[in-house]
Amino acid sequence: MRDTIYDVIIIGGSYAGLSAALQLARARRRVLIVDEGLRRNRFASHSHGFITQDGVDPAVIAAQARAQVMNYATVDWLAGRADGVQLAKNREPASQHIEVTGGAWRHASRRLILALGVTDILPEIEGLKERWGRHVFHCPYCHGYELNQGRIGVIAGSELSLHQALMLPDWGPTTLLLNQAFDPHADQLAALAARGVAVERSLVKSIRGDADADVELADGRTLSFSGLFALAPFKTTTSLPQQLGLDFDETPLGSIIRTDAMKETSLAGVFACGDAVRATASVALAVADENLAGVAAHRSLMSGGIAHG
Ligand code: FAD
Ligand code: MG
Repeated sequence: MRDTIYDVIIIGGSYAGLSAALQLARARRRVLIVDEGLRRNRFASHSHGFITQDGVDPAVIAAQARAQVMNYATVDWLAGRADGVQLAKNREPASQHIEVTGGAWRHASRRLILALGVTDILPEIEGLKERWGRHVFHCPYCHGYELNQGRIGVIAGSELSLHQALMLPDWGPTTLLLNQAFDPHADQLAALAARGVAVERSLVKSIRGDADADVELADGRTLSFSGLFALAPFKTTTSLPQQLGLDFDETPLGSIIRTDAMKETSLAGVFACGDAVRATASVALAVADENLAGVAAHRSLMSGGIAHG
């Protein structure tokens, strides 16, 4: 192991991780960012809804953020995956630290920030994966406007898709493709009708097409849409939170790391932010979260220690 004990290791160097790093760098703290480079929105060519960056390629936003953060001399970058994390128990609580390990490296820090994002679990429909972020989306606010009020299909994954189907008529004429995921009851059918949503019961066989998304149904028909929406559950990107025994909260789409208002997890000295801690995700929220986590980790360095506040 290197002699350096970083003030903070940040695992995840996307919007959330970089936003935390910026605050810590500006406090002249020694920071290591470990990043595997698998941003959740890497499938999309445009990012929307983040002021000053509306319509910009999400890779460009991330690259610009990284360049600005790496201008600070106290920040190091490690490209790779962190696989292990543990508390190194020292006799003196004040000198306790956290060890993070990857393939051939090991680094230590006094505080840890998990900015891990999440992994989307996409519906198993032929042709969907290739069109994720291009013709198939999960967030109407991110991608609805660009469909120019064309026809929209909602591929149901569960009863939760009802909410998406009821929202989407604001972006274009909407069809709910039930795909046998659930069977709406009379009140739900009435609510859909009141919003002008068409309901399609035939199974979805595949998605084809380039300019449009053509949905092939099991009964032989093909329906063309400007865009499709599907709710994707998500899972954690790594077992690092579990290795630390962190508490989780359950949401309808997946588990998120439990944090307090200052983004500290159930383990003192360990912070988490961005998509890993909230089910409703966006670049703006990830940046805001991590900005707070960066400040909170900095404050925590001035008092207490790992695992005992
Ligand atoms: P991420 O951006 O997912 O970054 C997490 C980083 O941590 C990744 O680089 C990952 O590789 C790294 N990482 C994870 N585990 C490890 C490990 N063990 N070791 C090393 N590195 C690790 N939001 C918008 O506001 N506007 C949009 O237009 C928009 N479009 C989207 C389109 C699609 C298709 C999707 C799926 C999402 C979209 N989002 C959009 C949501 C947006 O992508 C997320 O809210 C945002 O990326 C969250 O930032 P984050 O930093 O928390 O996580
Ligand atoms: Mg986008």
